[in-house]
Amino acid sequence: MPLTFAHLKKAYLDSGYEIRFVPRQQLEGMALDAPAEVKRHLDTNIMGLIMPDEYAIGIAKELDTDERAVTLLHELIHLADPMMEEDEVEALTLEMEETLSPQQFGFLQFLAS
Ligand SMILES: [Zn+2]
Repeated sequence: MPLTFAHLKKAYLDSGYEIRFVPRQQLEGMALDAPAEVKRHLDTNIMGLIMPDEYAIGIAKELDTDERAVTLLHELIHLADPMMEEDEVEALTLEMEETLSPQQFGFLQFLAS
């Protein structure tokens, strides 16, 4: 069953996670200490990170609002489907970015601002 925006929204609301804006350098440090499933992010520039121990999603504070919204979208896909492979998450992020309604993207922007 493909993930929809409704799934992501529900996963976020059910998780009780807070969204935290963290300097990118600090995110990279956290990723080094993270479990293996988080370490796959080390292949790319780290813009966001799920921090299960802290019930938080970290987003790089250097990003502008739209970039934060897309990063949050990516992390919410991880949250909704923890087993999904990174390249699949990347592809779905791009696909959803293009197909979200203005209201849906606005919800992400609101959370990420
Ligand atoms: Zn990822």
